[in-house]
Amino acid sequence: GGILYLCATPIGNLEDITFRVIRTLKEVDLIAAEDTRHSRKLLNYYKIDTPMTSYHEHNKIDKARYLVDQLLSGKNIALITDAGTPAISDPGEELVKQAYDAGIQVTSLPGPCALITGLTLSGLSTRRFSFEAFLPHDKKERRMIIDELIKDTRTIILYEAPHRLQRTLKELYEALGNRNITIIRELTKVHETILRTSFIEAIEYYKSNDAKGEYVVIIEGKSFEELEAEKQVLWEEKTIPQHMR
Ligand code: SAM
Repeated sequence: GGILYLCATPIGNLEDITFRVIRTLKEVDLIAAEDTRHSRKLLNYYKIDTPMTSYHEHNKIDKARYLVDQLLSGKNIALITDAGTPAISDPGEELVKQAYDAGIQVTSLPGPCALITGLTLSGLSTRRFSFEAFLPHDKKERRMIIDELIKDTRTIILYEAPHRLQRTLKELYEALGNRNITIIRELTKVHETILRTSFIEAIEYYKSNDAKGEYVVIIEGKSFEELEAEKQVLWEEKTIPQHMR
């Protein structure tokens, strides 16, 4: 069978691509792209004329099956998505799963990824972090995830669409309290902006400034001191009779 290559592509700046990805995109039999029109710009820039086919959220199940058949018949396929590393908050994961199930060899060519690039610029702790991608839209699911984040001592990384940014900041502020956060916009692009702020300040800021472009939001984890202090209170409430507290 052929090999499935997951190829990381730029998250804004066309030059952020590896030599290996360019060579692989030229050498494979077929490129599966999330949005062929969007990816055409990249392929033209690097004079890559490999055939492209679309593989996206709405056709991924059937299309993955088709791509796996092509791989089984010996074709080498590269998967690219609109930006960054395939399978991170995009349809890539389905194809990887189906390829493994069919015994296909899969490899990943590393490169840009918005969450990692954002984290490095956050100025917050990078040692332990939890990537939450986009918070779910479904109310119940969203509530469950946010509840889990309340006690999280790791740095939290979120992706968010501009028109949902303010609402998400408000909900998180209500649940987590005021925290240091870094809002990163348009990474690697001309209007790359890094806002090191807090929930309160940011919510105030976006009252008078429209959010535009692509965002990564990074939130300081709960401090161990705060977590300890809360545990202590709970312990005292459970074990020490009311009149002795
Ligand atoms: N696979 C991609 C990756 O490796 O980062 C992520 C795909 S996800 C559908 C797109 C989201 O990633 C955007 O809504 C935004 O939150 C974030 N993102 C992608 N490019 C970005 C950029 N240049 N600056 C800031 N955020 C970006």
